[in-house]
Amino acid sequence: MSDICVTTSGCSADYLRRVKVQKSQHSPAARGFIHIAKAPRGYIFGRRLTKQLQCGIPCTEDVEVDVAIVGAGVIGLCTAYSLLRSTNLSVALIEANRQVPATTPHCGAATGAGQGYIWLAHRDPSSIAWQLAAESQSLWQELLQRPHLGAGDVEWQSSGSLLLARESVEAEQLQARQERLRGAGIAAQYLDEGALHAEEPALHSSMAGGLLVSSDSQLNGRAAAKALLAACQSLHAGASAFRTLLGHPVVDMATDGSSGAIQSIATREHRIWPREGIVIATGAWTPHLARMISSAQAPGLADSDIQPRKGHLLELPASLAPAIKHGLMEIGYAKHYQRSEASAEDTDITFTATQSASGSLLLGSSRELCGFDGKPDHAVIQAILERARSFLPALHHVSAADVDVRIGLRPYSRRGMPHVGRLPGCPNAFVAAGHEGSGLTLGPATGELMCRLVAAAEEVLPAYAAALQLEIQ
Ligand SMILES: Cc1cc2nc3c(=O)[nH]c(=O)nc-3n(C[C@H](O)[C@H](O)[C@H](O)COP(=O)(O)OP(=O)(O)OC[C@H]3O[C@@H](n4cnc5c(N)ncnc54)[C@H](O)[C@@H]3O)c2cc1C
Repeated sequence: MSDICVTTSGCSADYLRRVKVQKSQHSPAARGFIHIAKAPRGYIFGRRLTKQLQCGIPCTEDVEVDVAIVGAGVIGLCTAYSLLRSTNLSVALIEANRQVPATTPHCGAATGAGQGYIWLAHRDPSSIAWQLAAESQSLWQELLQRPHLGAGDVEWQSSGSLLLARESVEAEQLQARQERLRGAGIAAQYLDEGALHAEEPALHSSMAGGLLVSSDSQLNGRAAAKALLAACQSLHAGASAFRTLLGHPVVDMATDGSSGAIQSIATREHRIWPREGIVIATGAWTPHLARMISSAQAPGLADSDIQPRKGHLLELPASLAPAIKHGLMEIGYAKHYQRSEASAEDTDITFTATQSASGSLLLGSSRELCGFDGKPDHAVIQAILERARSFLPALHHVSAADVDVRIGLRPYSRRGMPHVGRLPGCPNAFVAAGHEGSGLTLGPATGELMCRLVAAAEEVLPAYAAALQLEIQ
């Protein structure tokens, strides 16, 4: 190692510093590069000293890191947080959008559009996703005790959930569900028409019944994403190093021909060298990323394994919003938690409502398989409002002009549960995607699973983890 000091003009502003130059033995690409060493277990990055740099033409910065996470939605953020908190591994979080969560109009990422219910009420206690959700619920409670992740930071509200029946047949389904939830240890209380009206007076008087689960909660998905990022950045001050590359879509990955392992990941401005592994947490875009590394050994994910399922969510300002005590959802919504071959033909609208901590009312939601189109659809907005009015009559005075529209592409997994595990045929690649309408709920347990897989602590994986492994068909 030489001890020459240089100033690396042109590097990202937050890492510009005078540094010792060392010739890294670590990566084959390091030969002939200038590298910046931060810490033994930290990142090493630098720039080619080429004529291009001298001329001011952009060139590639090398980043060496233990784990590269692609995608800074709630799943990538929870994974980063778990790794930084529980291991000494350095982490680089690479995100196509400049902001976390991505909320620019119609950008499509799901996390910024999420409504925020952290519920068990509408899930099936016999499903794998139930176990992931139950573990996540208790992990969220734990996270609330951590710096930057307090109840105020994520706008946590213990407001309970109310599933709603409009027909007598649905009321019978609620009563059966009450028994199943009780069997799984959840205190669920069936409310008949009168009791429901007393509990939630804003509801239409024609409701047939409701199921109250007081232990369910909600948060603000946007606030939670920002808080998770801040929490990761605060852990950076400790043993582990954390770097964010925001506004840098991953455009390519290079694999080793014989082992199938990923050697490097490219953005337009960086080449990232992951020492331990790469986590693909790119939601609906995951098949695109998997395609970059597909080979004979790693056949990749089919586009149909994870598809974008577009969702509209409407936000009504507090000044126009009726007050509700609990999170509300029509019982028909539960069908979205079953394994299915989704049809591209129909737009599905099911009623949900949650009141944010500031009093605005979030009204959901639509589901459509229409590719990566993130534009608002006036007919869908009208249909969500119409459906919401049939549950909350005070919304009759509200028009489409009164609401802000959020659009997100849920990562729909046709097997009805997410893929969380190794990418077959690629020894250092992991996938955490396909959480559809549940990523805010399932994020913490997914992050913990990923952390254990990447850190090779597989002996402490919960029993249900095997079922979440990726299946390549
Ligand atoms: C209307 C709506 C309401 C919802 N309500 C709830 C709810 O109440 N409760 C709940 O639990 N869940 C809810 N969800 C679901 C939840 O939002 C998603 O399951 C979750 O956000 C998925 O997170 P993710 O990190 O997998 O994906 P995303 O949030 O989509 O993040 C993926 C990230 O990968 C990035 N990316 C893609 N390609 C690249 C690339 N090449 N390079 C770098 N980065 C890339 C994207 O920019 C994006 O930021 C809702 C979703 C919608 C749309």
